[in-house]
Amino acid sequence: MHLNRALVVCVLLSFFDVACMENRSFQKSWLDRMLANVAQSKIVNTLNQGLAHFDRAGLDRGAQKNGVQDACEQLKELGRKAQEEVGVTQKRIVPIKQKAIPPSEAVAAIASFGFIMVNSGHLNQARYSSIRHMLYHEAIHIKYNDRVMIGIVGLFACMGALPAVKAVLNKSKGGSELLDHQVAQLLIGCTVGYVALKCVNATYGKYCEHRADIEGFYVTKCYQCVRENAEDKAKTLHFVQNILDNKTIHSSKQQNLTDEQKEKRASDLAFARNWIKGNSRYLSINEIQQIADDLKQEGRLCELHKES
Ligand SMILES: [Zn+2]
Ligand SMILES: [Zn+2]
Repeated sequence: MHLNRALVVCVLLSFFDVACMENRSFQKSWLDRMLANVAQSKIVNTLNQGLAHFDRAGLDRGAQKNGVQDACEQLKELGRKAQEEVGVTQKRIVPIKQKAIPPSEAVAAIASFGFIMVNSGHLNQARYSSIRHMLYHEAIHIKYNDRVMIGIVGLFACMGALPAVKAVLNKSKGGSELLDHQVAQLLIGCTVGYVALKCVNATYGKYCEHRADIEGFYVTKCYQCVRENAEDKAKTLHFVQNILDNKTIHSSKQQNLTDEQKEKRASDLAFARNWIKGNSRYLSINEIQQIADDLKQEGRLCELHKES
């Protein structure tokens, strides 16, 4: 019973967390510091190391089939430097891999438990500043063991939400009868667990992306790199809005297009929809510009932009 009450408190606290995670400022609060300490604790590090081992073994096994390659030396070096600079310890530094991810998925890179996967298609068209930020952003995910932490936070939310719902149902007559049936219990358990997990994925996931953007941009220590990222984001937003605004025109003119053109339009439309769907998880153009202004005041520039 005491455990049940403790879990109900956990779920209330997680709702409080969610409220705090919205509109997060650039200043670190007690909540940010607490989450960062838990995420980098020995137990979470060990858990991630174990999963990273299986993750890399699975990646190597399917490398040929999935078109996975080692990144080029320059990218490997940039990725290692990014991880060192954000504060990933030598033992936890992960390798940089690359593969072609369809452009329609709107993915530049992904940080897994044991590696960073870069979309080789993105590399072909991105500027140095964009590649640099991409690696620093993913390095922050590695630093805070984000993949493992999303799982842990999700598990806690499920464990806390279940007794909370049971306690509410127990109070009502119809609810307590419902709980006598094993099938109803199973259905309620699965539904509550699924909803709690979805909520956590959306909120804690968004928190992780915001943190990776904020810390990643500041650690690049170059206002020109950050400014170029804001410019690139503005250009992509413009491109995406154009595609979405013209989608009805596209469909009415579809019959005059070649198969190749139709395929390109479908891919562009999928890219635009996926990009918009994911965009709210990251910093806005104004927020990125604000970080560029902060770094400009400190006169920060990377080696490349110092020379130019
Ligand atoms: Zn991310
Ligand atoms: Zn720079």
